[in-house]
Amino acid sequence: MAEIKLEPNVLSLLKDKIQLIHTANKNAIYLVGPIQLPVNLEGETVVFQWYSWLQQEEANDDYESIIENLASANLAEKQQSSVLVYGEFEQSESALIRMHSICHTGDIFGSKRCDCGFQLKQSMKKIVEYGSGALFYLANHEGRGIGLFSKAMAYILQENGYDTVEANKSLGFLNDHRDYDDAIQVLKKLRQKPVILMTNNPEKLEAFNKAGLEIEGRMPLWGDISEYNKQYLQTKIEKSGHLKGNGRDEIDEQ
Ligand SMILES: [Zn+2]
Repeated sequence: MAEIKLEPNVLSLLKDKIQLIHTANKNAIYLVGPIQLPVNLEGETVVFQWYSWLQQEEANDDYESIIENLASANLAEKQQSSVLVYGEFEQSESALIRMHSICHTGDIFGSKRCDCGFQLKQSMKKIVEYGSGALFYLANHEGRGIGLFSKAMAYILQENGYDTVEANKSLGFLNDHRDYDDAIQVLKKLRQKPVILMTNNPEKLEAFNKAGLEIEGRMPLWGDISEYNKQYLQTKIEKSGHLKGNGRDEIDEQ
């Protein structure tokens, strides 16, 4: 185990960038940022403010010991989420929010079995166009919370006639394992004013409502529909209660 003693300069640089958030279930969230993140968004450089957070079971405002323990905490084996913030997010009258669940195959490889990669890029573009907003990238949500390895198995079942919901259920998972509690706590820390949620999923609206957040609207996010994901998207509507965008009754290939 690497034992270190922090140099005073390192501590003073970092401690002002850490915010401790106490959650209802006595857990603690350490939010670090903002960090300037210039992003290549379809050939244009856009500067976001980036934050990441770490959840711990106990709140401890001794940041020195938390930082000193990082090297031995093996964090790369665990999942940390983050958020990209754009514009005058805290103060703007209105802001667009996207809660994006990590999708290794869609976001990174550009898989067309789902619409995640499209939704990720599209939500970043929409936030920039809108002028103020935040994209939450939720790293413990792979495969609706079943994890990447289980998702591979679910895909095998899907290649053999199961739909997304049936495949997850036959592996012992409920339809949707995701929760948004941490992300909502972080959002509340970054902004108090109402938000517009970019989603097709009513459960996300519900989670926001339950947490007492003021939602002034919903923006649908459909697109990149192809022969490869048409069935997956239709299942979202029929079995997972996803709301249809723009009043369309079914998914059309585009
Ligand atoms: Zn996906």
